[in-house]
Amino acid sequence: LVSREAKKEDTVITVKDVAIGGESVALIAGPCAVESIEQMMLAAEKVRLAGAKILRGGTFKPRTSPYAFQGLEEEGLKILNTAGRFAGLPTVTEVIDLPSLEMASRYVDMLQIGARNMQNFRLLQAVGQTRLPVILKRGLSATIEEWLMAAEYIMAQGNSQIILCERGIRTFETATRNTLDLSAVPLVKELSHLPILVDPSHSTGASRLVASMSRAAVAAGADGLLVEVHPEPCKALCDGPQSLEPEDFTCMVESLRPIAAAV
Ligand code: PEP
Ligand code: MN
Repeated sequence: LVSREAKKEDTVITVKDVAIGGESVALIAGPCAVESIEQMMLAAEKVRLAGAKILRGGTFKPRTSPYAFQGLEEEGLKILNTAGRFAGLPTVTEVIDLPSLEMASRYVDMLQIGARNMQNFRLLQAVGQTRLPVILKRGLSATIEEWLMAAEYIMAQGNSQIILCERGIRTFETATRNTLDLSAVPLVKELSHLPILVDPSHSTGASRLVASMSRAAVAAGADGLLVEVHPEPCKALCDGPQSLEPEDFTCMVESLRPIAAAV
């Protein structure tokens, strides 16, 4: 179902009135994690002014350490929903299991399946039974074939609103958090009709690399970017080192305009 043979034309997914796929580059931005109403209102307003079309914010955080901040869960969903409505932006959050999926579906416009759950097949099937658009991130060590098969699990249940997201893969290199596999963009476009985003934040782990990798992603044909932006990255409870200051996000967006047909 996800293959280019199954459908020749590029799929365009709409989240409220925002199109992902097609001519323009869709910008999804916001903090790694929802921390407070003040943080999210500020983030929402600033990313919207810079040109973001969808607001992100993690409310269920799959952290490497069980002692790290795990997310505000339902309280975070309420905050994300309020901030999104305040700024007039649709919202997206990650779901990690069936209860978080059930809860998040009541508050957000789009779901995200994170790298760590790319092959959580029961979760994929459950998301497939909803009719919400979903961002499916590439697994930490997943091949493109495995990633497209994960998308197939969702679509086989009837939900065809899938947006793939390259977020870097695990390699021997330790200078960056992950290794951004930009060749995934044209390869996925060859193999599938689904839109593909690039996440320059998790793929590099370093805010100073985000702008250049964003431009490279757009030049490679990405349909959009998923970028972590925090009002005060140095105080972030999660992923501060890779989060852009709102002003840097604005500059980064401006630098995309000569490359993209429309941002
Ligand atoms: C995230 O987007 O905050 C996240 C946890 O990403 P990933 O699943 O790609 O690590
Ligand atoms: Mn993050």
